[in-house]
Amino acid sequence: MTETIGTKRFESAEILCVGTELLLGDIVNTNAAYLSRELAALGISVYRQTVVGDNPERLSKALSDAFQKADLVITSGGLGPTYDDLTKETVAAYFGRRLVLHEESLERCRAYFARTNRVMPENNVKQAMLPEGATVFPNDYGTAPAVAVSDAETGKTVVMLPGPPRELEPIFRERVKPYLLMRSGDTLLSKNIHLFGIGESQAEVYVRDLMKESVNPTLAPYCQTGEVRFRVTARAESEAAASEMCDTMIDRVLATELGDYVYGIDVDTLENAAVQLLRERELTVAVAESLTGGMIGERLASVAGASSVFLGGCITYCNEMKVALLGVSQETIARHTEISTECAREMAVGALRRLGSDIAVSATGIAGPGGGTEEHPVGTVYLGIAMRTKGTDGGDVISSSVRRLSLSPMRDRAYIRTVAASNAIELVLRAAENGHVE
Ligand code: ATP
Ligand code: MG
Repeated sequence: MTETIGTKRFESAEILCVGTELLLGDIVNTNAAYLSRELAALGISVYRQTVVGDNPERLSKALSDAFQKADLVITSGGLGPTYDDLTKETVAAYFGRRLVLHEESLERCRAYFARTNRVMPENNVKQAMLPEGATVFPNDYGTAPAVAVSDAETGKTVVMLPGPPRELEPIFRERVKPYLLMRSGDTLLSKNIHLFGIGESQAEVYVRDLMKESVNPTLAPYCQTGEVRFRVTARAESEAAASEMCDTMIDRVLATELGDYVYGIDVDTLENAAVQLLRERELTVAVAESLTGGMIGERLASVAGASSVFLGGCITYCNEMKVALLGVSQETIARHTEISTECAREMAVGALRRLGSDIAVSATGIAGPGGGTEEHPVGTVYLGIAMRTKGTDGGDVISSSVRRLSLSPMRDRAYIRTVAASNAIELVLRAAENGHVE
């Protein structure tokens, strides 16, 4: 069977980091961790990570050692303009190539200095001297381009990346990753499953088996403030095939207990999902906010197109305003305080009536750090949701319910307020989804 070099797939890789400062322990080798993670996601096994000092003999030896096992070596560091930056020279010598001037890289380097009002020092020309026949990945974040050199006979390839992570990471993501994918002839596609109301560790329990067996597509959790996202990534010969593989995995996840917590696929944020659904169902929403002080309204308004569904609201931080603007009864506050199911319910119903919306949500609670009591410790939040539907006689029926959160008092004020607002938005989303509240 003949093999075309251009499409030969890399099976195994070694990461070779160059820099005496790594060996001295002056810097932490974050590049190796980053590259290992990225290569694993591409389905390329990393056999070994090596560090060598700025020494051409040892670097050359490390290259031959690496190619005993791996067909791809990715190096980091040593592409700079100074005398101790020797990676390119050593790799070129290893492959028996000359270094030739790459005009385009020189131009980019000059332009890079010009953008920052500096004249390029002459020793930077060294960074545009590249091994003959190399694949060049332009660097938009610094002066040294990344370069790949391949042996036409064996297909063994070295990809050289600049050392600074703020250059290495974007070049890898934007330029090298597509090159590696092209070499394998594959496409990589990700879809996100958004969850609310469940912690990361509990979420993992429900899909542990799926995660274990998932090699392609992979299933990986990401934790955000009060939310969890699972990313499904498939690698296939076409985008359509990868998309279908992702969808199959998503269906399997939805079929587990986790399905109940999913609020959308690739919707980005809760507020996006909520506004999208309100628009689809032609429902309007109003807010009544105490501890969130406008965060719920702000998040709804941040979504483009919110104007057709978001009517407005009241920020009623003190009790007088809860009474004056929302019609909460003084007696309710006197009997139950403002941190109560009753107050949250009256706030939501008040907003619904006064603003004339189909749905209204309210938030009242204690964000701390002070002000907690034994009955209502910091982190106690009541969220009211009210909805207007048509009764059998054609008249308006207003139903309402309240969700109580007991967030950890160890959490800070910002977290408690953010999670309260997220819960409020989720309540709106679920009300729109179900067409009623209970
Ligand atoms: P420069 O043009 O900045 O000299 P370079 O490609 O020659 O880039 P090095 O000189 O090896 O790279 O490293 C430059 C800086 O990049 C280091 O001082 C360090 O801050 C960072 N760096 C290098 N290698 C790594 C690594 N493996 N992990 C994390 N940071 C690194
Ligand atoms: Mg350097």
